[in-house]
Amino acid sequence: KSAKWSPKEDGSKRLPIYQHKSKLIQAVRDCSFLVVTGETGSGKTTQLPQYLREAGFCKDGKIGITQPRRVAAITVAQRVAQEMQCTLGKEVGYQVRFDDCTQDTVVKYMTDGCLLREVLADPALSQYSVIILDEVHERSLNTDILLGLIKKVFTDPAKATKGRSFPLKVVVMSATLETDKLSAFLSNCPVFAIPGRTFPVTCTFGSAVGPKDLESTGYVKEVVKVALDIHTSEMAGDILVFLTGQSEIEHACDMLFEKAECIDYRYDVTDQSVDGLLILPLYGSMPTDQQRQIFQPPPPRIRKCVVATNIAATSLTINGIKYIVDSGFVKQLNHNSRVGMDILEVVPISKSEAQQRAGRAGRTSAGKCFRIYTKEFWEKCMPEYTIPEIQRTSLTAVILTLKCLGIHDVIRFPYLDCPEERFILEALKQLYQFDAIDRRGNVTKLGELMVEFPLHPGLTRALLKAASLGCQDLLLAVAAMLSVENIFIRPGHPDKQKEADKKHRALAAKTGSMNDFATLLSVFQSCKSSDRPSAWCKENWIHWRALKSAFSVETQLRDILHRLQQKKDFPVETFDGNKSELFRRCLCTGYFSNVARRSIGKVFCTMDGHGSMVHIHPSSSLFDQEGELNWVIFHDVLATSRVYIRTVCPIRYEWVKDLLPKLHEVDAYELSSVARE
Ligand code: ADP
Ligand code: MG
Repeated sequence: KSAKWSPKEDGSKRLPIYQHKSKLIQAVRDCSFLVVTGETGSGKTTQLPQYLREAGFCKDGKIGITQPRRVAAITVAQRVAQEMQCTLGKEVGYQVRFDDCTQDTVVKYMTDGCLLREVLADPALSQYSVIILDEVHERSLNTDILLGLIKKVFTDPAKATKGRSFPLKVVVMSATLETDKLSAFLSNCPVFAIPGRTFPVTCTFGSAVGPKDLESTGYVKEVVKVALDIHTSEMAGDILVFLTGQSEIEHACDMLFEKAECIDYRYDVTDQSVDGLLILPLYGSMPTDQQRQIFQPPPPRIRKCVVATNIAATSLTINGIKYIVDSGFVKQLNHNSRVGMDILEVVPISKSEAQQRAGRAGRTSAGKCFRIYTKEFWEKCMPEYTIPEIQRTSLTAVILTLKCLGIHDVIRFPYLDCPEERFILEALKQLYQFDAIDRRGNVTKLGELMVEFPLHPGLTRALLKAASLGCQDLLLAVAAMLSVENIFIRPGHPDKQKEADKKHRALAAKTGSMNDFATLLSVFQSCKSSDRPSAWCKENWIHWRALKSAFSVETQLRDILHRLQQKKDFPVETFDGNKSELFRRCLCTGYFSNVARRSIGKVFCTMDGHGSMVHIHPSSSLFDQEGELNWVIFHDVLATSRVYIRTVCPIRYEWVKDLLPKLHEVDAYELSSVARE
């Protein structure tokens, strides 16, 4: 046979999944539920939807593929559009929170959160012929809830066709072998395993991080050192470094830049020699055009070094990786029942996660994984498996979604892994505090309005309060600003940092009140009203890209609100307090469970019944002003060596006096009997 050049030669035929194409299509035809498993990189995410489209599954409806991570949904859609040679947003598109890139789209990649919102509007998912829940092994909260909903509705023949003219096909994809459990959960459906081709990876332990180093941040320096060691002493092949988050990654990249510049490349010139290092960061909130670079092969004789968050563990596959540097840590949002809050913290990864990370080095040839932690750290500090998100984060938003779907008994919902009952009770309690449910656990009118917003329920509550008082503009902007990441530029360089800090402090001072929410509002308004907003951002060390997203988010929130305000029973209230207090009073309505009072020095004590000791985060304009404060509310909590509160606003006790008792008004037992009814 002569090899014919084909414009579609993108390597997709060389992926492990390709050999199983027709059998896979048949398997989807044959049954309503299918579990597909295969090593990361085998082609599940990018190929299966294309196979199904070719096989005619788009005739009756769309193919929807969910991803736990927003970046994955976007980059994968881009890739598939490229392979199918169509414009992104047409035949292939994506939808993530606040960013809808679909138009007559039949292959739709989206976050699991987006599909959950679609279920609210259309429980029968009548627009879809196939739903693919992808990356199920990640066990994200929304994917777990979707699994439960799908089981509840579509495994029951009586309900499965309600509201649909043809049956729905459901494919569940996972990179790990927890497939028996998944199959058992979905009426013992068949499992299709794509045999992988993986090469051995040699793992070595280091000496830098031991059980005593749980709270130090020395791991950033250490991964840099190890990456440079690899670069100067190992044969050609790209490096993938696993770190915890954006700031650590940027810091590490800065250090790598500085040090790699000084390397003298004069050793023997063989085929395997390398002359330079290409350093590429990779994290969720990065601009997508920058993310695309990650996938490109480096120029000849240049070694690529990608410094990434866990996103590179399974959601995105980077070809050519031969060396892994594993920091052993991950940044996770955990519900901490000791302090009663969701806390973003750096914790050791699980052993299974460490194996997954190591595996990234063995995709195309034998690889090496350098763990910077000791064997003792592995044994004593790292759990066997990662706890599913549903068992470690706040359930408030999803419980409200379930209630709005008419699922009253949220304790006996079919969870793949049950959350602890007290977590469910805490969520119910919080919904009660926000007036989203009543004492009997029924959704209130306000709750029905709240569920429409893709925001944290507390923030939604504050927004609705403002809307009822006619001052929604204030809260729409703040909610939009809190929904985008990285507004303030924090350069790694100390001199530049000083310059940026000065500008940021000036922006805060401009509001006349030391209040981080007001600063966000002021940045939003100043930029929006500027003639040259991008120049304004540059001058003030603000990320223009983040502000542009905030503008778009604000418009979308405004549209949702506007639609709801057309309803005749939309609440209307009057404000009889001091006008200058209006903004902060609205915030109090949503944040009264995040109230802290200064106890001594710079230490604050939360007022939610847990009495946790917290500090104001250095990024706040109130940092170092603690002496002048008494009562504050805050947006979120970050734990490093201390528990820090971020985005802080001073308040007066009188404003929350009447709200605080609500925190203790109902007890768990009362709501538990409701939940069990
Ligand atoms: P799986 O879902 O089984 O982990 P994928 O379908 O994500 O596998 O990936 C299959 C292949 O496509 C991998 O070799 C990966 O490197 C490649 N790939 C995925 N996305 C991109 C992209 N944006 N650019 C280049 N290659 C990509
Ligand atoms: Mg995948």
